[in-house]
Amino acid sequence: MTKQNTVIRSGRLLSLPDRSAEARDIFVRDGTIAEIGPPGMDVPEGTVEIDANGMLLMPGLINAHTHGHGSLGKGLGDRWTLEHLLNAGPSINGHRTLEDKCLTARLNAAEMVLKGSTATYDLYFEFPAPTLEGMHAVARGYEDVGVRSTIAPMMADHTLFTAIPALLHALPESAQKRLSEIRAAPAEEILKNCRALLQDWPFDPDRTKLALAPTIPLHCSDDFMTGCRNLARDFDVGLHMHLSESRIQVVTGIERYGKTLTAHLDEIGLLGPRFTGAHCVWLDDDDMRRFADNGCSVAHNPGSNLRLGNGIAPARRMLDQGINVGIGTDGSQCADHQNMFEAMRLASFVSRIAHPDTDSWLETSEALAMATRGSAKALGFGDALGQIVPGARADIVFCDLTNINFVPLNDPVNQIVHTEDSSAVHSVMVDGRLILDNRRFTTIDYEKLCREAEAASERLLAANAEAREFASGLESYVSRFCVGLAEQPYHIHRWATDPQTGRMI
Ligand SMILES: [Zn+2]
Repeated sequence: MTKQNTVIRSGRLLSLPDRSAEARDIFVRDGTIAEIGPPGMDVPEGTVEIDANGMLLMPGLINAHTHGHGSLGKGLGDRWTLEHLLNAGPSINGHRTLEDKCLTARLNAAEMVLKGSTATYDLYFEFPAPTLEGMHAVARGYEDVGVRSTIAPMMADHTLFTAIPALLHALPESAQKRLSEIRAAPAEEILKNCRALLQDWPFDPDRTKLALAPTIPLHCSDDFMTGCRNLARDFDVGLHMHLSESRIQVVTGIERYGKTLTAHLDEIGLLGPRFTGAHCVWLDDDDMRRFADNGCSVAHNPGSNLRLGNGIAPARRMLDQGINVGIGTDGSQCADHQNMFEAMRLASFVSRIAHPDTDSWLETSEALAMATRGSAKALGFGDALGQIVPGARADIVFCDLTNINFVPLNDPVNQIVHTEDSSAVHSVMVDGRLILDNRRFTTIDYEKLCREAEAASERLLAANAEAREFASGLESYVSRFCVGLAEQPYHIHRWATDPQTGRMI
């Protein structure tokens, strides 16, 4: 399809290195930035003009880690750890139809656009195994809205309770029986579905990529993880895993493997340039060295880490070791939104409670680079996304400089990271096309989407009511188990408490 040539006139173009925003024209040919020049520059006849006077132009933010299936789950839990969330999983995600899968992806995408994101890495969950139709429906959901995506079916051949048997044994006997009867699909069946997906992916990979997400090391057998590794290598796609997210995982990992989770993944050949580890809160220095040596990426999700009480990920140390770090929100069932401005701000803020030495804090320019170029690399788009330069795709966010967040305009980078909350997002361009124009979608009927989401949510809450009651009956047991395991020693500390006394430092 031939795309229209467009020129964006007189917008204030963000420059990260010198923290400036000078007026520029941007000429876009076939969805790619062809030329950037002074206002009024010559363009070929017939070029469509977009007036960006009074707008700050910044690269579309790129969400390095989300879950489309979580978009109906905003605000569903309060004092939940990761293990509470996983315990509640069936009650949040059960009874989804194919239409629900497409709808949840669309809802997630719409929120991202309204909040200034243009691409995302979505780990979408289907149980007991990913399906061709399901993943196609998710991809369609993102394409309907116009958001680029890397869609990774989130998979496991174990359940939470076969992954952490001690947790199962901490529950009442009646619950143990019910939960031990739940089975994930066998590894061979899941891998067969993945191969079918990879062989027949009908979407343009410049727009919508496929990747694989064996979700959590403890939840996946070695045979399954190496099967995913081989498929990712054979089809040249990304691998994305939740890694060392909670302290329970890393303590259980040492018990299971006799080494850290990362050391184990390295040993079985999972680490490499196509690998992204999400969260990575409890990586030690040796784990980080393995990441750097193998060219892996990290999806840093500070909001989710705080919300689920997982601790502070050592993002500064990761950057210092040369690891590529992107930023993500995580799914709305545990974040509880898709606001990358807030994710950047939290990345900046949590880096400042780790040490009094300001040199160790993330600069706002680093947070913004992570949320654009860092994430782009993790998604597998490399230099094509995350920057407004000739040769990059025209994925551009227009922020209204009359919005109170930018009045007065002192330092555009500091204000994007520390002030903006997405309310200044005026228009959003992907591939040279405005998908949000003056806060109106040009691609979807937003009001209809909201009605459909409300109706689906109501239906699914009713369908999952019994599962929800069952899961909430186990919450106190899960809490006690988490506290108990937190007392087992581990050689690093990522909470804002004294490791000896457990009190606030
Ligand atoms: Zn996640």
